[in-house]
Amino acid sequence: MPDQLAGAVAVVTGGAGFIGSHVVDRLVAAEARVVVLDNLRTGRRANLAHHEGVIELRDHDVSDHIEVAGDVDLVLHLASPASPVDYLRLPIPTLKAGSLGTHNALGLAKAKGARFLLASTSEVYGDPAVHPQPESYWGNVNPVGPRGVYDEAKRFAEALTLAYHRHHDLDVRIARIFNTYGPRMRVDDGRLVPSFLAAAEAGEPLEVHGDGSQTRTLCYVDDLVDGLLALLTAPAGDDVHLPVNLGGTDEVTVLDVASLVRRLTGSASEVEHGERPVDDPQRRCPDLTRAGQLLGWAPTVSLEDGLRRTLDWYRSR
Ligand code: NAD
Repeated sequence: MPDQLAGAVAVVTGGAGFIGSHVVDRLVAAEARVVVLDNLRTGRRANLAHHEGVIELRDHDVSDHIEVAGDVDLVLHLASPASPVDYLRLPIPTLKAGSLGTHNALGLAKAKGARFLLASTSEVYGDPAVHPQPESYWGNVNPVGPRGVYDEAKRFAEALTLAYHRHHDLDVRIARIFNTYGPRMRVDDGRLVPSFLAAAEAGEPLEVHGDGSQTRTLCYVDDLVDGLLALLTAPAGDDVHLPVNLGGTDEVTVLDVASLVRRLTGSASEVEHGERPVDDPQRRCPDLTRAGQLLGWAPTVSLEDGLRRTLDWYRSR
C-alpha cells in the first residue's frame, strides 16, 4: 500500500457502493481518514458496517452542494448509478451525478487543494469501432439512446475534470473502468456476474442477451482497486491527468462466462437467449499499455479464480 495515504483525509463519494466500499477498505487499511458521501440509492450501509466508528458515512446526494469541514487531501468521485438496470430506471439522477455531482466534487477538491480522482468508464467508448480500445480513441456513443444518460454523463464528467485541471491547475486523475466484478455486487443489479451466479445457484436459467457472442473483459475488484490507488498515488506531472484504462485482459464471450459459471457452481441451469439491449456493445477490451507504462499495473487474478472468490462470498451469506 502506498505510504502517502497514511494520515491523509480522503472523501469518497459513492463509498457505500460495490467498488467504493472496496476502495474504502483499502484506504482504511492504509490508515487514511475516510469520509463517505453517499445517498444510498444503489449502495448499502451494510457494505461499510465493518468500519462503523472508524469512518464517517454521510447520507448526502452529491448533486447538492458539498461541505466538509477541515482539511481534505483526496477526493475520489465514484457516486453514480453504474449498472444498466440502475441507470435506465434512474436516468435523470444519473445525468445529475455525472454533471452536478462531478461539479460539486471538483469544487470541494478545489476549495481544499485536494487531489481529485474520477471514476469514469469504458462506456465513454460506446459501441467501439476500434479494438482493443486505447485512451486516444474518441468513442462511438449514441447520445440520445437509452444508455446515453450514463455514457454522456461520464463524458461530460471527464471534460469538466480536465477543465478544472487546465483552468484551475487542479491535480486530477481519470480512471476509465471496464467491467469489474466481485463480492458486494447486488444480485439484482442486472450485471453479468451476479445475475449468472444467482441464477445458477437457484437452478434457474442463465439469461444471455442475443446469441451470447458479444465479448467482455472482466476485472476482479481487488485488481481494479490496486489500479485505482496506483493512479491516485502516482506522482503529479507529465500526462498523469489524462484518462487511464483499468480493466481485465482476457476477452471472453458472454456464453463463455455462462459455461464457466455453470461449471464452478456445479449447476445444471440452462442458457436462455433474450433480447439484446439497445446499443449493447458487441466487443469490449481495454488497451492497457498506458496503465502498464504509467503505473506498472496489470490485473493478476484470473477469471476462474475471481469467480470462485465471488461465489464463495455469495455462499457465505
Ligand atoms: P454502485 O451502484 O455499487 O455504487 C455507486 C454508489 O454511488 C452507490 O453507493 C450509490 O448509492 C452512490 N450514489 C449514486 N448516486 C449518488 C448521488 N447522487 N449522491 C451520492 N451517492 C450516490 O456502482 P459501482 O459498480 O460500485 O460503481 C462505482 C463507480 O465506478 C461509478 O461511478 C461507476 O460509474 C464506475 N464504474 C463501475 C464499473 C463496474 O464495472 N462496476 C465500470 C465502469 C465504471
